[in-house]
Amino acid sequence: MEATYIQTEDGRTKIEWWPKEKFASRVTEVISSAHYDRIPIPDDVILCDFCNERIEEFPVPVMGTYALCKKCLKGIEKVGEPSDS
Ligand SMILES: [Zn+2]
Repeated sequence: MEATYIQTEDGRTKIEWWPKEKFASRVTEVISSAHYDRIPIPDDVILCDFCNERIEEFPVPVMGTYALCKKCLKGIEKVGEPSDS
C-alpha cells in the first residue's frame, strides 16, 4: 500500500492512502454497559474522522485508523519554515 510521511506536531507521521475497496464492509462497534451493537457502515459513505465531511476523492489519506479529508490533512501538517540557506 502506498504510504507517505508528513511532519505534524507529533513528529513524523505515516499516512496511508486507501483505495475505495479498503473501506468496504466496515462496521462501527458501539459498546456500552447495556448494549453491544455492530452498526454496518455503508461502503460508499466515507466521512472524515476529524470534521465528518464526506470524502469523495480517492485514494483517501488515513492516519492510523482515521480517515482524513484533504482539508484536515493540510490542517495537521506542520508547514516547515521556508529555508533559503
Ligand atoms: Zn476533515
